Amino acid sequence: MNAVVAPELEAAGPADRRRTVPVMVGNIAVGGGAPVVVQSMTNTDTADVDATVRQTAALARAGSELVRITVDRTESAAAVPFIKEKLLKMGLDVPIVGDFHYNGHILLAEHPDCAAALDKYRINPGNVGFGEKRDRHFTTIVELALKHDKPVRIGANWGSLDQDMLTRLMDENAALPRPADARAVTREALIRSALLSAALAEEIGMAREKIILSAKVSAVQDLITVYAELARRADYALHLGLTEAGMGSKGIVASTAAMGVLLQQGIGDTIRVSLTPEPGGDRTREVTVAQEMLQTMGLRTFVPLVAACPGCGRTTSTTFQELAFDVQDFIRTRMPEWKRHYPGVEALNVAVMGCIVNGPGESKHADIGISLPGTGEFPTAPVYIDGKKAMTLRGPGLREDFKKIVEDYVARRYGVVQAGAAE
Ligand code: SF4
Repeated sequence: MNAVVAPELEAAGPADRRRTVPVMVGNIAVGGGAPVVVQSMTNTDTADVDATVRQTAALARAGSELVRITVDRTESAAAVPFIKEKLLKMGLDVPIVGDFHYNGHILLAEHPDCAAALDKYRINPGNVGFGEKRDRHFTTIVELALKHDKPVRIGANWGSLDQDMLTRLMDENAALPRPADARAVTREALIRSALLSAALAEEIGMAREKIILSAKVSAVQDLITVYAELARRADYALHLGLTEAGMGSKGIVASTAAMGVLLQQGIGDTIRVSLTPEPGGDRTREVTVAQEMLQTMGLRTFVPLVAACPGCGRTTSTTFQELAFDVQDFIRTRMPEWKRHYPGVEALNVAVMGCIVNGPGESKHADIGISLPGTGEFPTAPVYIDGKKAMTLRGPGLREDFKKIVEDYVARRYGVVQAGAAE
């Protein structure tokens, strides 16, 4: 990979300074050693209060810890305080981030209730105005953020790069004895756009502890290079995400490949998986994928995950697949209530295995595991609890019996002993 920014173009900057103070976005800490935060974005018309509340609530309930909404015109800015109010009435205090392009300086100034209701403003330095207006508009947004005591995300994007910056760097590069390739120069322009905008925000008076940076691109290797550079040059909290990741498995794989490498290096304080939903598809999928990414990397735990073998010629019936899906679904459905009553339950491990080859072994490693009978095996399913064979299930009620065992285990292991309960 061409991971090297032309040395001639490299801006001097602070190296290897790790942030120690988090950015507070509403009640959520970002960076400063806080757990990596999952965020998402609605795709409703923000002016449609009910639709936006519905989707924001769904995203928050799925586990999105920050939700970004588009604020693109007067009607959407006017809707924001009502959206926030309705969410609070539903008991959902999820921080709401306003996504501004082109006219954020006007909307925030003309709608102080919107400015107050939002928990963070996202500014795209490439879309904030042109020529000398750019700095003026940017300054206005930052001053409004200061006035309302809100943090900002300075979110540069490959698709809306500051063209003046890019042109200048291209010209400088062309004059070099050994010019870098155009892609490296474009990456550099993106990095500088984010860093210079952050420096400008600080000059205006914004504290570092109020600034989150992002510089999103749509190709995996570019994202890794850009964020490694951002992290090397500055200690701002970083929002990580592959923009335009795409649909279905392509979007999931590309996002995971790029962000996994960076997260493994400790780069990234909040993430979004930008999946294109299929028509009529579930917007909360991007939240589930982000959570699963963090959980499978061992960075956070959100929901008990079911380990299941892939199945093979030894499992000719669908019983095994159905049970694995059913149990994962059961756990996700039960989690909101479990979380209220059983602290720590998200670390539960469950295994559903297809036959005797790896079934008992894998099941013993889980908190609860079941090894189903493979083709030609005796039609019984041993269940292992805490590494020991606890019982054997059989017959048509097996699925419900297993779920009951999981439910009882959760209550027994994670149930809080009430103060004053009988000894
Ligand atoms: S545990 Fe059994 S069914 Fe599952 S993949 Fe291994 S051999 Fe196949």
